[in-house]
Formats: sequence, structure tokens, C-alpha cells
Amino acid sequence: MNCKVSIVVPCFNEEDALPYFYEEATKIMQGLGCTYELYLVDDGSKDGTLEIMRRLAKEDSHVQYISFSRNFGKEAAMYAGLQASHGDYVCVADADMQDPPSLIPQMLADLESGEWDCVASRRKTRAGEPPIRSFFARRFYGLINSISSTQIVEAARDFRLMRREMVDAVLSMSEYNRFSKGLFSWVGFRTKWLEYDNIERVAGQTKWSFWKLFKYALEGIMAFSTAPLALALFCSAGMLLAAVIMFICCLAVKTSPAWLPLGTLVVFIGGINAGLIGILSLYSSKTYLETKNRPIYIAAERSDRKKENE
Ligand code: UDP
Ligand code: MG
Repeated sequence: MNCKVSIVVPCFNEEDALPYFYEEATKIMQGLGCTYELYLVDDGSKDGTLEIMRRLAKEDSHVQYISFSRNFGKEAAMYAGLQASHGDYVCVADADMQDPPSLIPQMLADLESGEWDCVASRRKTRAGEPPIRSFFARRFYGLINSISSTQIVEAARDFRLMRREMVDAVLSMSEYNRFSKGLFSWVGFRTKWLEYDNIERVAGQTKWSFWKLFKYALEGIMAFSTAPLALALFCSAGMLLAAVIMFICCLAVKTSPAWLPLGTLVVFIGGINAGLIGILSLYSSKTYLETKNRPIYIAAERSDRKKENE
């Protein structure tokens, strides 16, 4: 195989897990006999993660690393790693072995077949996860897929191997509030899904608290749907309809209660207000989308570039 593979690994306080990952990934990649690099991203770790990266980079020329000045989050770490990687194929994998490097050869074979641009992974079941977390996760996927035009695949992991074209497309979306599960889907490309059982992390602890996950879910909804902004318009329609019914009651019922005319006026004015807010929201949603500066289209293939490369 004469292509180059990059493995991007976001790491936050992974001193216990990183050595296992390095060993396993190195074994797999050496076995494949292709050119590769391990791009480790230290996301402002407070433990010995950076020292391990320095040592590995010194001992092994396949290892490169970047260390952030503070914790910027996994999304920023993935972006930095993708940006710095040089591979024709780029893999994103967690340091804790929950994304088994042993799947990489199969992923590579799928990409090499030319049939796919990306091989992504999803967990088969949520076994081993606290039931409350599973409950909210399911509700989240149900909600976001009903209000967003971008499909967010349930239980999808960030673990995937992509062709350089897809990586460049993801990088061309340089929005600050990143939700990669959506970005990977938004850019398109032919994606094959691998399913596997949930694997416990090899060492250390998860960095995701319930609160962090909740904020991440909100991030996803806000990044891939402007439907909540249309809420004011629905309220307005409901209130104006109620005002019309109340007005008819005022005229029809001879002995209507004294509060009814005043109530009708209040609901009517409320409806007009909500409507005006809804119109403002529609414009601000357009401005919001423009500020993201997303590409207008993404080409997967074009004859002029193909000829240049040949
Ligand atoms: N991670 C990171 N920055 C963070 C949180 C996590 O780079 O702020 C890394 C972490 O080191 C790991 C991956 O992202 O390699 C996934 O994190 P974790 O295993 O805690 O998440 P979980 O698997 O529990 O969803
Ligand atoms: Mg993990």
C-alpha cells in the first residue's frame, strides 16, 4: 500500500490510556506496512500526557504532537489534528481504546476498494451506559433528526477513516461552535457504517459529565437547526387564532364575562408581538447561517482536477 495514513488522537488527561493506544496502534500500522503518522493532540491536559507525547515523539519519528495552551474541548482537538495531518487517509480515534485500532485495517481495505470515501463507526447497543444517559441520548437523537435537515446518526462515534477530500471538506467548515457528528454528515460523501459492541475504556475516566453532554446536545441543535427560532411564529399563530375565537365569543355571547374583551385585546396584542419577534428570528437565522461561512457546495470529484493529478 503506497498511501499515507494519519491517525489523529485527541487527548485530555490520558496519561494512563495513551501508552496502551500507542502500542496497539503502532503494532497494527507496522503490520500493514504502510506509511503512517500518529498525530497526538494534547487538549490542555493537567497530568503527564504531554510528557508522554514528548517522549514518544523523540523515540518514534511516526509520532507528532500539538499541545494546547488550555483545554479547548475534543472538537477543537479534532480540528487541530485534522488540520495538521498529512495523510491521504485520516483516522480520528480516542486515546482510551474505545475506538479499537484493530478495526483500522478493515477500514483501510474498504477505502482502498474505491467504493467508499469514509468508513465510520457506531455502537450496536448502549449496554454499560447509565439508563438515564441512554434515555436522554435517545430523546436527543429523536429531536434533532426531526428538526434538522442534516441526518445525525444515533450512537455514531467520531471514530472514522476518511479520504483526504472529505477531511478537506470538513476543514473548510471553519465554524467556531463545532459539532462534528453533524459536520461529518453535512459534507456528504459515501460513508460505510461499521457496527461494534461498546468497549469499556482501558484506563482513566470519561471526561463527559451529564452537564457537559447536555451542553454538547444543545450545541448540536443550535449548530444544525434554526427550528427553535421559528417557535415565536407558531406562538403568534396560536395566540391570534385564540384572539379571533375570543372575539367571536364577545359578539355571540350576550352576557360575556367582563374580562373577556380585555382578555381578547391582551391575547391579540401578544400574538402580534410574537409574530414580529418571529419575523426578526427568521432574519437572524439567515444571518446566523451566513456567519458560519459554510461552503455553498462540496465536490467529491471533478474531471479537471483528476486530469491534473494523473
Ligand atoms: N477529549 C479531549 N478533550 C476534552 C474531552 C475529551 O480531547 O475536553 C478526548 C479524550 O481524551 C478521549 C476522547 O476525547 O481521547 C473521548 O473522550 P472520553 O473517552 O472522555 O469520552 P466518552 O468515550 O466517555 O464519550
Ligand atoms: Mg471514551
